[in-house]
Amino acid sequence: LRHLVVVLGDQLDPDSAAFDGFDPARDGVWMAEVVEESTHVWSHKARIALFLSAMRHFAQALRARGWPVEYHRLGAHDFHGLSAALADTLVRRRPAAIRMVRAGDCRVEAAIEACAVAQQIRVGRVPDTHFIATEADFGRWADGRRQLRLEYWYRALRKRTGVLMDGATPAGGQWNYDQQNRASFGAEGPGWVPEPVRFMPDAITREVIDLVEARFPTHPGSLRGFDWPVTPAQAAEALDDFITHRLASFGHYQDAMWTDRGWLYHSRLSAALNLKLIDPMTVCRAAEQAWRAGMAPIAAVEGFVRQILGWREYVRGLYWRFMPGWLDDNALDAHVRLPSFFWTGQTDMACLRQVIEQTLATGYAHHIQRLMVTGLYALLLGVAPRQVHAWYLAIFVDAVEWVELPNVLGMSQHADGGRMASKPYVASGKYIERMSNYCRHCRFDPGEATGETACPFTTLYWDFLARHRARFAEHPRLALQVRNLDRIDPDRLQAIRAQAAALRGQ
Ligand code: FAD
Ligand code: SF4
Repeated sequence: LRHLVVVLGDQLDPDSAAFDGFDPARDGVWMAEVVEESTHVWSHKARIALFLSAMRHFAQALRARGWPVEYHRLGAHDFHGLSAALADTLVRRRPAAIRMVRAGDCRVEAAIEACAVAQQIRVGRVPDTHFIATEADFGRWADGRRQLRLEYWYRALRKRTGVLMDGATPAGGQWNYDQQNRASFGAEGPGWVPEPVRFMPDAITREVIDLVEARFPTHPGSLRGFDWPVTPAQAAEALDDFITHRLASFGHYQDAMWTDRGWLYHSRLSAALNLKLIDPMTVCRAAEQAWRAGMAPIAAVEGFVRQILGWREYVRGLYWRFMPGWLDDNALDAHVRLPSFFWTGQTDMACLRQVIEQTLATGYAHHIQRLMVTGLYALLLGVAPRQVHAWYLAIFVDAVEWVELPNVLGMSQHADGGRMASKPYVASGKYIERMSNYCRHCRFDPGEATGETACPFTTLYWDFLARHRARFAEHPRLALQVRNLDRIDPDRLQAIRAQAAALRGQ
C-alpha cells in the first residue's frame, strides 16, 4: 500500500486535498467508528448518530467511485479508540505513509501521530482546503499584534477573498451593519417563520439510530426528530432553503429568542459545515449572490457572512495558536460544579428550561441561546470552565473541539482572561427579558435580585460584578456596569450576595 488516507468523522470533504492523486490501485481510504469518540464526553445521541450516518454515507460515495475503503463499523470490532484501530491496520497493511488533513481536535491528532510514530510510518499532513485561511495565514496576521480582534481578521479575509467587496470598498459602503441587526421580536412575537427543510432518515440513518439507541441508551438527548443533513447533496439543499426563505431576516433577528421556536431565521448549517459536507466559501458566495440579486438586504447578508468568513475562521486560527494550553485556563478562578439540570432541563428558570430542553430534543441551540442563556448562567454561577467545555462538546450536533472550545472558554466563560473576547459577556435577567418572551412564562422576576421571586441571573449578575470588581473596575467596556454596582446600597448588596452564595452552593 502506498498511501493510507485517513478520514475522520469531521473530514467528509469529497474534494479534500488528501485525495489529490489518489490511485485506487495503490492507495486506500481508512475510516473507523470507535466507542471512545462517543464517550470521551457524554455525547448527545443525535451527535453520535449524525457523525456515524454521515461517515457511512461518505464511505458509500467513495466506494461508488470505485475506491477501496477499509471501514470499521461500531460493533464489528473491539477497538475502543482510534489509535488502537489504526495501529491494527498499520501492522497488517504497512502503508508507506498516512495522508490526512489536520484533525479537528488536538487529542485525536496527538493520538494518530503517536500511533504512526510507534509503527514507524510517516504522516503526510496535507493542507485543509476546506478552510478559507491556513494556520500560517492566521499566524502571520496575529504575530506582533497585542490583541487579536475578530473585526480586523474578518476585514483582512474580506479583502483577500473579495467576498462582499466592490473593489477595495466593502459592499454597501460599510464593514459592519450591527446597528440594523440584533432586534427582538417585540411583544407580538415572530409570527410565521418558514420552517427549515428537514431530511427524513433513510435506511443508513435508521440503522445508525437503532445502533445508537442500543449501544448508548443512557446518553443524553433524543433521536425522535432527527432530521439533519447527512450528505453533501442534503447540505446543499439546506443552504438553498436558508438562502431562499430565511436569510433576508437573519441579521435583524439573529439575537432574538422565542419560546418553542428553536431555529427562527438561523441557517442550521453548522453541523454540515463542521463535518465538511459543504464548503464555507460556497455558503458565503451564495449569500453574497442573494444580496446582488436583490433577494436579501446587505445588513442580513453581511451579518451572515461575518459569522462564517469572520468568526468561524477566527476561532479556528485561535484554537491552533493557543492549544493545548487553553484547556487549563481559569482566569476567573471558577470552581462550582455544573448544575445537574444542564443534562435534564429540569429547572424552574424558564429560559434555561427552554434552551436545554430544546437542545436535548434536537442537539441545537442558536448562538444567543448558547452565549446568553446557558453560557451566561455558567459564567455568573462560576462553574469550572472544563466542565462547561465538556457539556458543550457533548450536547451539540455541531460540536468539534476547534470551534467549540474557543467559543466556550474564550467567548462565553472568559476563562482565558480576555485573549479572545475583550470583556466577559455578562448581563442580568433583564437582557433575556428584552430579547425573548421566556420571562413571561417564568416564576421569577428579572427585575428582582433578592427574595423569593428574584431572577437567579440578576442575583448572580451583581454578585459576579462584586466578586470581580477589582478586575473590571477600570475596564473600558465594563466600567459603567461596575459604577452601577457601586450605587447599590451596601445592605442590599450584602443581601444579594448572600442569596447568590445560596445559589452557588446549590
Ligand atoms: P447561524 O446563526 O445560521 O450562523 C451561520 C454559521 O456561522 C454557522 O453555521 C457557523 O458555521 C458560523 N458561526 C456562527 N457563529 C460562530 C461562532 N461564534 N464561531 C464559529 N462559527 C460561527 N459553533 C459550532 O459550529 N460548534 C460548536 O460547538 C459551537 N459551540 C458554541 C458554544 C458557545 C458557548 C457559543 C457562544 C457558540 C458556539 N458556536 C459553535 C457558535 C454558534 O453558536 C453556532 O455555530 C451556531 O449557533 C450554529 O447554528 P446555525 O448553523 O444555525 O448558525
Ligand atoms: Fe430566565 Fe430570569 Fe427570565 Fe426566569 S426571569 S426566564 S430565570 S431571565
